[in-house]
Amino acid sequence: MRLRTVGIVALSILLLGGCSKNGGGNKIKIGLSLDTLKEERWQHDRDLFVARAKELGADVLVQAANSDDTLQNSQAENLLTEGVNVLVVVPHDGKSSATIVEAAHKAGVPVIAYDRLIRDCDLDLYVTLDPEKVGEQQADYAVKHRPKGNYVLIGGAPTDNNAVLVRQGQMKILQPSIDKGDIKVVADQWAKDWQPVEALKIMENALTKNNNKVDAVVVSNDGTAGGVVQALNEQGLAGKVLVTGQDADLAACQRIVQGTQSMTVYKPLAKLANKAAELAVALAQKQPIADPVTKLNNGKIDVPSILLPTVEVDKDNLDSTVIADGFQKKEDVYKK
Ligand code: BGC
Repeated sequence: MRLRTVGIVALSILLLGGCSKNGGGNKIKIGLSLDTLKEERWQHDRDLFVARAKELGADVLVQAANSDDTLQNSQAENLLTEGVNVLVVVPHDGKSSATIVEAAHKAGVPVIAYDRLIRDCDLDLYVTLDPEKVGEQQADYAVKHRPKGNYVLIGGAPTDNNAVLVRQGQMKILQPSIDKGDIKVVADQWAKDWQPVEALKIMENALTKNNNKVDAVVVSNDGTAGGVVQALNEQGLAGKVLVTGQDADLAACQRIVQGTQSMTVYKPLAKLANKAAELAVALAQKQPIADPVTKLNNGKIDVPSILLPTVEVDKDNLDSTVIADGFQKKEDVYKK
């Protein structure tokens, strides 16, 4: 039985391992242009994407831009000069990165937006873990556990279309309670470049302004939740105030176990990275995209988009989701 499994695995690797060729008969080259590698998740994204592309017989050239638009632009130009057949982009700025798509198209290279949408351009494809649903899951958790009280909202980078979509999802759920007067939004700010230190400052100010009377903080990701928990800790409030997040970063999972962060949204990155790598190879080979796609308007066109599902996680299902999937190791998450 065991041998048989090994045999099947070996066979499928053999089938997939063949070197994928582009139209000109050369090995496919994929350019992966990342905004940043700062948050833990992007390192996973890169590794998973490169591994899947390799399995499919393609090479990947990776660049990361440290949240710098000019740098991301010139890195993308370099990838085009290197002769990539397809460009996969996580944009720092969802609007100004339209120039990357234009440059790629001039060179006859299709572009996939990875995780974050690129606006106002003829983008070929968008693959993501549904950001609006992420926002809904965060707010849904908050409203269920703190149906009434003072809320602080901390959005992500205003330049990231995901931050906008996450907020849209949050408001869909929060608005009825706000209208009823059950929830009062006492502070509402966005953290530049998703920086934890920005979130820390926003939270310190919100606490001062409201005499520490805050019941819940709807924070858009785990990195910024780290800053929020630090501010709460300074006031002896960590663990008392509800805090949301997204990404299932190791530090966030540890905070969930310790009780200082209430929940996170787990995004199965392997599904996203695998799908994006497979589609990149298909696009490079000018194959039709067989996946069921939705359309998402980017301000210029309806972009064929694939929106993958995410999972609401707190201390009760951390083991059966994030840990069971091998996304984080049990011994790391529960480390004292
Ligand atoms: C991603 C989040 C990430 C954030 C900061 C967003 O676009 O969807 O997963 O935490 O960027 O990098």
